[in-house]
Amino acid sequence: MNLLRKGNKELIKDLNRSLVINMVRIQGNISRTDIAKETGLGLSTITNIIDDLIKENLVSEIGTGESHGGRKPVLLKFNGDFGIIVGLKIEKQQVKMCLSNLEGKILHKNQFSYSLTGENQLAAIIIEKLDSFIKQNECVSKIVGIGIATPGLVDQESNEVIYSPILKVDHGDLKPIGRHFDVPLFIDNDANVFALAEKWVGIGREYRNFIGVTVGAGVGSGIVIDNMLFRGDFGGAGELGHITIYQGDRLCYCGQRGCLELYASDTYLVHEAERMVSIGVPTLLESFTPITPECIVMAAQRGDKYAQELLVKQGENLALGIKNMVHLFNPEAVILGGEGLREENFLLKGLQKELAVHFFVKHPRKLQFKISQLGDDVWLIGACALVVSHLFKVPIYK
Ligand SMILES: [Zn+2]
Repeated sequence: MNLLRKGNKELIKDLNRSLVINMVRIQGNISRTDIAKETGLGLSTITNIIDDLIKENLVSEIGTGESHGGRKPVLLKFNGDFGIIVGLKIEKQQVKMCLSNLEGKILHKNQFSYSLTGENQLAAIIIEKLDSFIKQNECVSKIVGIGIATPGLVDQESNEVIYSPILKVDHGDLKPIGRHFDVPLFIDNDANVFALAEKWVGIGREYRNFIGVTVGAGVGSGIVIDNMLFRGDFGGAGELGHITIYQGDRLCYCGQRGCLELYASDTYLVHEAERMVSIGVPTLLESFTPITPECIVMAAQRGDKYAQELLVKQGENLALGIKNMVHLFNPEAVILGGEGLREENFLLKGLQKELAVHFFVKHPRKLQFKISQLGDDVWLIGACALVVSHLFKVPIYK
């Protein structure tokens, strides 16, 4: 709406500015002439925009590049330290937080545990903790936005957590956090945020079209099409955990039966392990109480064939879901991450075996299967990417 109300001239100016700043931001070490070539804009337009950006301290000149005849071109760089982003990752019992620069470099991070006794307390708890975290690190004046990664269904329009079984929240309102710090606040589900982090600073930079898949307490995915995150109508796209893989089978908390999450998440592992122990299967798992996903991995690594088979089966089940997405979206790559990836010998073996067969295997362009290299920081980086992607508007990635 904002854009429509503006005059055409102002709108074009804004779009050009966004195009130029994103080119400097994403490509780096680029000259005015190169920007003109790549964007098709006139050199005088570029020069005016760059002059403004230099005055605002968003861009600086960093020396000269190779000459291709004539004067050496002056190279430009985006000033990643122009502002600070707050990234938050909300988990079942704890919140992780970080301060990053505008290029995804985490400057400080911390975490705290919480327990809720009533509705909508989470925002107040986060405000209190975040306030002291920000003050400790003395960067109050430079904060340009807050990004939050949370499990569950997030409505992109109202910026609300509609439903999160893991957080046990219905219509969780986190907006007071943005109001308190007087900066824009952006919330998204953790699988989308995972894909954004991969696109911004991870393996996803290499691909125009990819699917980020997360496995852990739940199963989720973030779909990147033409370098942009595809969110669907209200933010629900990519709910990989709730596609049906067994008709009429086990009941899921979402009300459906046979959801992938019931067969590929940590809950599946624990549930199956407990079932095996209860029927007297001779497995090392009987010596663990309670049985956790970590115990199952440990038993598998000690040679317990039941634990090994269970992890392989989890991988195979996950692959069934991933293949459905591959067939729907024909991505270049699938990038896998999440706390559920504890070992590579069994879960990944099952996954890769099953992924080796799909409808596109005869095509010379092979589906790439990658493991995220961003570690546990991926969620915080993604939460910060959420802010950057809004600050610099579309098209955010070239
Ligand atoms: Zn479900």
